[in-house]
Amino acid sequence: MNPILLLKLDLHVHTIYSYDGLITPKELIWQLRKKRLDGVAITDHDTIRGWAKFEKTLNKHGFIAIPGVEVSAKNAHILALNIKMRIPSGLEIDETIDLIHDDGGLAIAAHPVAVYRGWTRKLSGRFDAIEVVNASSFPFYFSTFFAKRLAARLKLPQVAGSDAHYYREVGAAYTIVKADGFSLDDVLQTIEKGKTIPRGKFIPLHIRLKREALILKRKLG
Ligand SMILES: [Zn+2]
Ligand SMILES: [Zn+2]
Repeated sequence: MNPILLLKLDLHVHTIYSYDGLITPKELIWQLRKKRLDGVAITDHDTIRGWAKFEKTLNKHGFIAIPGVEVSAKNAHILALNIKMRIPSGLEIDETIDLIHDDGGLAIAAHPVAVYRGWTRKLSGRFDAIEVVNASSFPFYFSTFFAKRLAARLKLPQVAGSDAHYYREVGAAYTIVKADGFSLDDVLQTIEKGKTIPRGKFIPLHIRLKREALILKRKLG
């Protein structure tokens, strides 16, 4: 039997292929090394356009690469991991989870305590995990506290991700996955079993402001 590996993975990252993302493959590799991460899930908003390019670069540099997408469901954002097809946006939460499961993916409730959405009451145990630490969430400590309580109530695995859109945000939060091996299957099965430790902090204000300025610049062309 293999010794257990403690893998550090940021499970929520947006790239230049997201309408609001900035991160290029080169920048991602640079930051993964800086933060000593073992890998990352690419979770652009409602698109998988960037996957092929990022997979190639991440594999070349020896990082674990998880294909994914952040699906905009009705009143909720759902991280779909191990998904290589586009899941339609705007569907009900349960319908979206079904489509993700049909395609062999994991459905994770992203930043569930976005209080203005008020959808946490509708959350069911049908998710595979809850993102309890999201480094971009505001207010951070409040969101983390309630998301952890929610995951405990639903008896679901707990994961963390940065929700980075700018490369310096990658790794601000990450999930420690206690895997038996380094393969994608090992990692996904371990997350499903809940052998995970969510870690992370709020992204510092000066980096958030820089992100906003760069995104605005990109939108204005
Ligand atoms: Zn989101
Ligand atoms: Zn996101």
